Order: sequence, then structure tokens, then C-alpha cells
Amino acid sequence: MIVPAFIDGAELASDSVFNSVDPATGEVIAKVSRSSVADVDRAVAAARAATQGVWRAMGARERGLVLRRLASLIERDAARLAELESRDVGKPLAQAKADVAVAARYFDFYGSVVGAFHGETLPSADDLTVYTRREPFGVTAHITPWNYPLQISARTLAPALAAGNCAVHKPAEDTPITAIEVARLAREAGMPDGVLNVVQGPGDVGAALAGHAGIDHVSFTGSVATGRLVAAAAATNVIPSTLELGGKSPNIVFNDADLELAIPTVVNSIIQNAGQTCVAGARLLVQSGVHGTVVTEIVRRFEALTIGRGLDDPDLGPLVNRRQQQQVATLVAGARGSAKLLTGGETPTEGDLAAGSFYLPTLFDEVAPDSPIAQDEVFGPVLVVTPFHEDTEALRYANGTDYGLVAAVWTNDLNRANRFARDLHSGQVFVNTYGAGGGVELPFGGVKRSGHGREKGFEALAGYTQSKTVAIRFSGSDR
Ligand code: ADP
Repeated sequence: MIVPAFIDGAELASDSVFNSVDPATGEVIAKVSRSSVADVDRAVAAARAATQGVWRAMGARERGLVLRRLASLIERDAARLAELESRDVGKPLAQAKADVAVAARYFDFYGSVVGAFHGETLPSADDLTVYTRREPFGVTAHITPWNYPLQISARTLAPALAAGNCAVHKPAEDTPITAIEVARLAREAGMPDGVLNVVQGPGDVGAALAGHAGIDHVSFTGSVATGRLVAAAAATNVIPSTLELGGKSPNIVFNDADLELAIPTVVNSIIQNAGQTCVAGARLLVQSGVHGTVVTEIVRRFEALTIGRGLDDPDLGPLVNRRQQQQVATLVAGARGSAKLLTGGETPTEGDLAAGSFYLPTLFDEVAPDSPIAQDEVFGPVLVVTPFHEDTEALRYANGTDYGLVAAVWTNDLNRANRFARDLHSGQVFVNTYGAGGGVELPFGGVKRSGHGREKGFEALAGYTQSKTVAIRFSGSDR
């Protein structure tokens, strides 16, 4: 398969190519055209030209119709898209199908609600009428990661395009395939040329885009280290950035929790997508009265998980590449001396699994809350357990990392739930649930090193527009 770039409505192959690999087998599944700096220039110029054209002039309703048609086309092609995504990322097919459904939902949601997104009329002097207009930035850049390529690109592109921006998207080099499929479907849905452009390549292509003087806003999802570079580039051009940089999110399970509800959710929150999820429930803070029961049950469930290639739909697929596998192995090795390893802690070395970048579901108990394995984002199927006695201790541990993306509290005490919802340093707090099934409508984003800006819900439309205040003065007899 050849995967091109997509600029000004046309597919662009280049002589310089790189491979996209199936992480379950190491097999090359696509040759990808690497965009040059000149291609990035062309993509930004095409988007700029499109901002002067029909997209903005269409108005919210017409743009919304195109986005909703795109949603229908994604649903029409769901089976094919899910298969491509599963092979490219390594994720279980059921997860890939869910990702496709959520991607379609983003385009449908923003295509539907953008017509209801409006400015305000403001009180002022009697002879003044003052109102705000919500205006698109112009050209928005979108740099997306490899863990949920379709879902995250839809999350960022749908509100930006709905608001009237024209976009340049750079998907991650490990997972370049579905971005181009979405661009093709957008063209089929009637999106004018230049409104959505895709450039392909590794970090230097991302850097060329993030630092481009012709963009007006940059949205980035990925690591803290790269997020800093993107934000610095945005600062140089004095443009806003939206950064979603991951987390070390805690599930906090109290003695009074409904364990039948809590335990499967805790397991799923770290196993989903092999732990390569920004909102992975990577830490378990568990109260001493249920600590033993909870940990024993998690070990049982971890050891019963099926592992295999994504297309065979196991519980756990491979990690995205060997580098990621190595990173997980290194962080786990560093924790062995200090924490109690209850299960996992290995790369499978026998049978079919040896050919892929797999890692066994891993559980550490009695983990010191300030140790690296409890502080650093692992991005693998590694859960660390820290027991606690008192509420204050749980809150201190929960808030005691550089991150603050999501947190969940498992309790039947309403006062406690309310207190934690108030006091947790986190962009989202869940009580007796986790993640809310994608939560397209629910504002999402981090505090602290998890980033800034909000995506999803109506807030994303605010994030991809800027307000202009208009004051009109009446004179003479109309005053
Ligand atoms: P990882 O290291 O796990 O791949 P990154 O945060 O580096 O995570 O990658 C997320 C996205 O950022 C990818 O699309 C990647 O190509 C891109 N990227 C990497 N380096 C840079 C950079 N210096 N500037 C802009 N984008 C970058």
C-alpha cells in the first residue's frame, strides 16, 4: 500500500518514503510518502487560500452538512477503516471499531452543534449596541499521536473545521494510514479543496508545521517533551496552542466501593489499547480494608487476558513499536528492586508473540507514591498499586504527580465523592465510572503538565475560535 500526503484536494506521492509496520508481526504494511518542508509550505498555503474561499462563506449550517456527510461516510466504511487502524496501531479490532464509531460521532456532533454556537450581546451604555462574533483563527495545525489516530484526529479536526478554520494535519509517523482515508472521505463529502490537508512524516515535519509562520493555531497531542517544543514554536509566532500531554491518572478505590463495578473498570482502564492511552488508569490507590481482595482479583484478571495480533481481537495487542516496548521494559526494570511485582514484567519470547512488540500485563504492589514508576507515564499495560488508610492520604497521593488529566473515585459516600471532585487536580473527575465511553460531548483536557486548552464538547468550538467585540453607537435622533 502507498500512503500519500494530501494537499489542496490532491494526493501527493513523493520519492522519499518510509515504512509503516504491523507491530504484531514486524511486517511492512505501507510505504508512506515523506513530506518535505516545501510540501508543508504548500499545505499551509493551500489552507490559507481556502480560508478566503467558500468554506467560511458557506456558513455554519452548510459546513455542518459536509461534516455530517463525512460522519456518514466514515460509518459506511467502518469495517475497512477499523481493519486498517487495527493493523497500523496493533490495537484489538473491537477497539478499532469503537474508535471509528467515535471518530464519526465527532464529525456528526460538531456538524450538528456548530449552528447553535454563537456570540453574545453585552450590556453597555444606552447608545451602544455591543456584541461578540466568534471567528475562526484561519489556518489551524494539528499534530496527532499514534495511539488513537482516527479518534484523536477527529477530536481535533472536527471542531476546528466546523468553526470555519482550514487545517493542516500531521499524523504520527507510526500510524499514517487512516488520516489519508479521512481526507479522501472529506473530499467525497464535498469538502472544498485546501480545507483539510495532510502532510506525512516524523518529528521534523511536525516541527516544520508547528513553527510555520503561516499558521494561526496549533493543536498537539503527544508527549510532554514534544509538547514543550510545540508550545515554544507557537510562542515564537505568538499564536495559541492546545496541548494534550498525557497523564498518570489514578483510580481511587475506598473500602465502601462497589468492587464488582470498580475492579473490571480498573482493569480495563489500564489494559485498553495496551495501556497506550493518555487517560489510562495507570495508578491504583486502594484503601487498606479492600487492598488484598482487589489486588488478588486484578492478578487473576490480568493472567486471564488473551494476547495477540489486533485483527484476531484479543484483549491485549502489541505495543506500537519496538521502541515503545523497550521503554516499558526499562521503566519496569527500574521498579523491580523497590516495588512488589505480582504478575507480568516481561516481554513474551515464545511462539508468535516473539515476532511482535508485545508486553505482558504487569502489576506492581506496595509502590512508593514518589517512585519513578508511580510518577512517570509508562504508556504500557503496567498498573502500580499504592495502598492508603485515610482520605487525606489518598488525595495527597492522587495529586502528587506532575500530571492532572483524569481521576476516578470509587465510593458510595456522597460527601466524600463531592469533596474529591472538588479537590482533585484533574481536568476530569469520574465517580464510580471511568472515561464515559469516549465522551464526545464532555470537555476534556489537562491541568499541570497534562497540558492546557479544552477539547470535546462545546468548549472545543470556543477553543478554535476567537471573539471579536463589536460596539455600534447610535447618533442623532436614534440615540
Ligand atoms: P512519541 O515520542 O511517543 O512518538 P511524540 O510526542 O514525540 O510522541 O509524538 C506525537 C506527535 O508529535 C507525532 O505526530 C510526532 O511525529 C510529532 N512530533 C515529534 N517531534 C516533534 C517536534 N519536534 N515538533 C512537532 N511535532 C513533533
